[in-house]
Amino acid sequence: MKVNHHALELEQNYLFSEVAKRIRAFQAANPSRELLKLSIGDVTRPLSRVVTDEMKAAAEDMSHAETFHGYGAEQGELFLREAIAGYYAQRGTQIAPDDIFISDGAKCDLGNLCDLFDADNTVLLPNPVYPVYFDTSIMSGRRVIFAAGTKENGFLPMPDHSVHADIIYLCSPNNPTGAVYSREQLAEWISYAKANGALILFDAAYEAYIRDPALPHSIFEIAGAADCAIEINSLSKTAGFTGVRCGWTVVPKTLRFDGASLHDMWFRRMATKYNGTSYIIQRAAAKVFSPEGLAAAHADIDYYMENAQIIKSALTAAGIHSVGGENAPYVWFEAPAHAESWDCFDTLLNQYGIAGTPGVGFGTAGQGWMRFSSFCTRETANQAAAYLAKL
Ligand code: PLP
Repeated sequence: MKVNHHALELEQNYLFSEVAKRIRAFQAANPSRELLKLSIGDVTRPLSRVVTDEMKAAAEDMSHAETFHGYGAEQGELFLREAIAGYYAQRGTQIAPDDIFISDGAKCDLGNLCDLFDADNTVLLPNPVYPVYFDTSIMSGRRVIFAAGTKENGFLPMPDHSVHADIIYLCSPNNPTGAVYSREQLAEWISYAKANGALILFDAAYEAYIRDPALPHSIFEIAGAADCAIEINSLSKTAGFTGVRCGWTVVPKTLRFDGASLHDMWFRRMATKYNGTSYIIQRAAAKVFSPEGLAAAHADIDYYMENAQIIKSALTAAGIHSVGGENAPYVWFEAPAHAESWDCFDTLLNQYGIAGTPGVGFGTAGQGWMRFSSFCTRETANQAAAYLAKL
């Protein structure tokens, strides 16, 4: 038996375990000091009552023969796919319900989509970015090249037309930088993809955090995307589903590469290796898209975004340059005095009791930068802001 040697090429990802280790050491050395955790990439507010009531009702249905559900529809329940199509339609984007595939989250879809592509493809990744794109590309044996985010380009790298790529991952709003591509910038990526016969994998997991009405929430808002893009999304950050698990992927029927329909291939892949998201969870997910479900989700998002504003304003007042935080729950800032990311992390933790996430953990271009998350309480955000003002 031979193992997948590409899986052995993965470097150990020490980022979050190292952050946790240093936080534990700080707490052991300073048992009475308060820890202000701005390092969390997970939601902290509970599910809305609207959603949990629907879960209970769906669970009740499962205990009666007349309303019991066994295996579900292969692409996910139609009522949920229609609710998601309706969500896109509210912003004028027409997505056919049968182009939507329900899953147990964006991370799984991002990894599973790799099943559709030959190993002999060049993958282009923004740097810094959510590490799953890199790790899953390496595990499936693909070449990876990078487009660097910098202070100058606002951490929104644009295509270099002299470089060829076959698969492009874009994350907007971006984790970790909180930067969001404009319509014009996405249009340029689409024209680059078309010129290269490339596919864009667009991760929209944080689209619900966009405040600026001019910014696109979906790549399908941009002309031409249905011929060259797949979109991955999730209720994890939109409605607090990180522990519940429900996401979706839009694979338009118009997508054809190498003589094959990616929609048909994804349908076949899902039907072969996945037996569907729990009926109870799909009912709860559909409820998120009801007027009362969306109102509850937006209230929580407003809460996180006010935290982001508090944190960002304190950094600005301290003369620290940051991006993000305006249309995303992450504030990405330059370490003061040209410090390296981990040195800045240690200083913030040991002097102020503030835990952030070192930017270098998201890619080499993150060196010298830090991520603060707004997934915290208002009290934590205010307290952290008070300390940051003294930096
Ligand atoms: N995409 C991005 C950019 C993320 O930051 C995350 C989670 O942090 C995910 C996807 C994963 O989402 P899910 O919980 O749906 O797997």
